[in-house]
Amino acid sequence: MIALSLAEIAAVVGGQTHDIPDPSVQVTGPVVRDSREVVPGSLFAAFVGERVDGHDFAPRVVEAGAVAVLAARPVGVPAIVVEDVQTALGALARHVVRRLGATLVALTGSAGKTSTKDLIAQVLRRKAPTVFTPGSLNNEIGLPLTALSATEETRFLVLEMGARGLGHIRYLTGLTPPKIGLVLNVGTAHIGEFGGREQIAQAKGELVESLPEDGAAVLNADDPLVRAMASRTKAKVVLFGESAEADVRAENVRLTDSGQPSFRLHTPSGASDVTMRLYGEHHVSNALAAAAVAHELGMSAEEIATALSEAGSLSRWRMEVTERPDGVTIVNDAYNANPESMRAALRALAAMGKERRTWAVLGKMAELGDEALAEHDAVGRLAVRLNVSKLVAVGGIEASWLQLGAYNEGSWGEESVHVSDAQAAIDLLRSELRPGDVVLVKASRSVGLESVAQALVETG
Ligand code: ATP
Ligand code: MG
Repeated sequence: MIALSLAEIAAVVGGQTHDIPDPSVQVTGPVVRDSREVVPGSLFAAFVGERVDGHDFAPRVVEAGAVAVLAARPVGVPAIVVEDVQTALGALARHVVRRLGATLVALTGSAGKTSTKDLIAQVLRRKAPTVFTPGSLNNEIGLPLTALSATEETRFLVLEMGARGLGHIRYLTGLTPPKIGLVLNVGTAHIGEFGGREQIAQAKGELVESLPEDGAAVLNADDPLVRAMASRTKAKVVLFGESAEADVRAENVRLTDSGQPSFRLHTPSGASDVTMRLYGEHHVSNALAAAAVAHELGMSAEEIATALSEAGSLSRWRMEVTERPDGVTIVNDAYNANPESMRAALRALAAMGKERRTWAVLGKMAELGDEALAEHDAVGRLAVRLNVSKLVAVGGIEASWLQLGAYNEGSWGEESVHVSDAQAAIDLLRSELRPGDVVLVKASRSVGLESVAQALVETG
């Protein structure tokens, strides 16, 4: 964080100083909410959680070197006391980003935010110091904490923004107003909570509504609901995608034998070839989005293509590939699943397993509402059409829909099995896997299938 005195922070957040002998003492950062992350110079934000109350940690964090606590009540150690800690944190973030010399890039979408954010960061940091959301900390607390971790040197601040309802993105853009706003896609994530795709589009589009005239709205030309957001912004519109009208697009998209996408990247100022280290063709769209942002910020097609070709995954359990010593390959994509990414992951599995036995260990895709049965059925069918050798459907009713889809598509018998839980899947695979097999593990977050992937990695 840029150094600020306690007096200055108290003024910015409208708080009262308590038990502070010297208000000119500076917070040098970081601002943290987890007491274990406190280092000398920190400001500790005390949140009241479901199980723990951050205020109880006040003496401990000050002992560990925190300069003060941002708190909702006096805590007996140096504190800035405010009515609402979250609001105060937001106000502080807003104040700090205004003083930074950094360009703010914000992105949202139903799927691929974290993957794309990691790609953007890996491209931009070749040009200048870049700070970006760690993991998926994309909400009203994670976002200001990330923004506050920027320093005077930071040139690019890349922020993932999540929305679970209308007004959420507007709140976040109010804290950290982006110059460049990227919308990836409008899928079915959280559709139950939103009520429909149109509502999701309405909520995500708040990002482009917030952009200034001299900013840029980077939109997915291949997604009609995202494309339509062009009418909701004052900023310049930059389109990415495979469609011919896109400013930044991919040609000759194919998967290498190892399942990694390769394509020719076209930008308004030149073209260059990309072969990604990441697995799955859904990353083409993510890469184009990152390329469009980087091009807007002055990078050349060659620089961008090199960076995209060298970029790795910075976040866990997203198409994480492990080669076991016995020649079995485990693909852990258990972070999350939706119909689009299930299809992309299955195609990557098929590409990797052209001459090998392939296993798809799949669980339910959550939050699909009325579309749940049809979507699970379609994924089961696709597994057969792609010639996946074995489908292991894990869990309850949704898993039986997966298996039934596969069965109906190809009169499969023993090629597909339905097991009740992760342990049953582990037991089955431990006894059946042979050297050379490739195993994809994927389901929605709530299923927790990473335990299967981890157990299989450790077995080898
Ligand atoms: P969250 O809402 O949990 O923060 P996210 O939008 O940040 O998710 P990622 O973490 O990047 O998304 O990816 C989640 C899953 O979505 C991945 O496991 C991957 O299978 C899939 N995915 C990634 N990119 C895309 C894409 N462009 N289209 C569809 N699915 C994708
Ligand atoms: Mg995320």
